[in-house]
Amino acid sequence: MTDTFKKYLMADSSARIQAVRLTSAWQTGLAHQPYPECIRSLLGELAAAAILLATNIKFQGSLVLQLQGDGPVSLIVVECTSELTFRATVNLRNPELVPADGDLQTLLNANGGGRFTVLLDPGRDKEMAPYQGIVPMEGDSVAKVLEAYMRNSEQLDTRLWLAADGQTAAGLLLQRLPDTGGVTTADAPAPEGAIHGSTAEAHAESWNRITQLASTLAASEIIETDIDTLIRRLFWQEALLALETHAVQWYCPCSRSRVSNMLRMLGREEIESLLQEREKVSVSCNFCGKPYEFDAIDCAGLFVENLDDSGSRTLH
Ligand SMILES: [Zn+2]
Repeated sequence: MTDTFKKYLMADSSARIQAVRLTSAWQTGLAHQPYPECIRSLLGELAAAAILLATNIKFQGSLVLQLQGDGPVSLIVVECTSELTFRATVNLRNPELVPADGDLQTLLNANGGGRFTVLLDPGRDKEMAPYQGIVPMEGDSVAKVLEAYMRNSEQLDTRLWLAADGQTAAGLLLQRLPDTGGVTTADAPAPEGAIHGSTAEAHAESWNRITQLASTLAASEIIETDIDTLIRRLFWQEALLALETHAVQWYCPCSRSRVSNMLRMLGREEIESLLQEREKVSVSCNFCGKPYEFDAIDCAGLFVENLDDSGSRTLH
């Protein structure tokens, strides 16, 4: 499996560790989205983050990370469903204004007007209400901004390492688990001579140790290393329980059939006038950029009764 999410638990229950690495799914997603390199990196980091956060929540539906920017990027959106499919897109205000070394702040918050929202859409799950949270744009990376958000909203220490390029998007999440029972004031370092051995202290030590280990990670290492190797390299001395492994897939619900319906709604006259100006009608999905083309015969077929749903030509 090249596109994988894995979840581990520290054997002492002090923290959970989650990792995601996308290669072919990521390349599929970018196939019709030719963005500058710094934007592919940013979008990939956001995609990895969305998957790590979505798998952290028990829900049915989708988690959406959306940033409305006031810089060269006007909108960047990633949607991850509870079935672990995802899609991601960017709207550029002006592609020529994208600096080669653009980052979260310069691309989306150039004048302090960027807006980062987390949305939980419960879909068909009637038990859950939709949720929307505003993520303050404090920090120079997607990871830093989300870490601060998680600390404030979830009251849980969460650390994220994210990296992406045009081939791979990957990330690692460490989350401290609440101490159940016993002392919960483990944030303060134990004073010299204090009695060691309490669960809270042991958990605090574990947490400090694993975050130290992960903080040695370079972006290139996150991108190049498969999850098993990365986890072994970082945490080989730790007792870890492997909990879950899931495949992750790129999925955009656009289809030729949906585009056909849209063209039918435009009406025959409109389509015919479009065809007078060009050989075929080309429509791209505004989410994934996938192109759909309809030549004169395809277009005529749109308005023939009893054609199959796909809108494609069928021979009788
Ligand atoms: Zn699409």
